[in-house]
Amino acid sequence: MRQAEMSVLAPDLYVTSVSVIDLKHLRQRGVRHLLVDLDNTLLPRNSDEVSEGVRKWIDSLHAEGFTACLVSNNWHGHVKAVAEEIGLPIVTKAVKPFPSAFRKGLALLDASPRETAVVGDQVFTDILGGNALGMTTVLVVPLSTSDLPHTLLLRRLERFVLADRQPLA
Ligand SMILES: [Mg+2]
Repeated sequence: MRQAEMSVLAPDLYVTSVSVIDLKHLRQRGVRHLLVDLDNTLLPRNSDEVSEGVRKWIDSLHAEGFTACLVSNNWHGHVKAVAEEIGLPIVTKAVKPFPSAFRKGLALLDASPRETAVVGDQVFTDILGGNALGMTTVLVVPLSTSDLPHTLLLRRLERFVLADRQPLA
């Protein structure tokens, strides 16, 4: 792939988990809103259990003055219950990387792409879609190795795209 094609796939930040995202750094970049993926970003895939670490992270977002909206490709009803439990709005059936769900999330937060970061565990949905709309992009290491079959195929391509880039811990 050529450099220009690679850059739309390159996250601005790459971290081991949401808890280690440097919120002050995001603020310095002008970010005040977050569009956050659910499966394997906040919850292990096939789990409804919100960890204490994730709850604390959501609390810290509010404390630092960020607003956030979940944007999930998941179409199952349980994700709405999870969103309610953690107290964030959600756009489901998102079909990321296509822009319509990201735009819905931006509208819900009354946010512009320039002041918004996408946080997610997949290069070809979260990062590609976020970069295409000119948002800051934060890639997290997936919470579990379990995922949909096509996602597991894309993971191989992700390893190629990320080359030897290592997540910040
Ligand atoms: Mg995900």
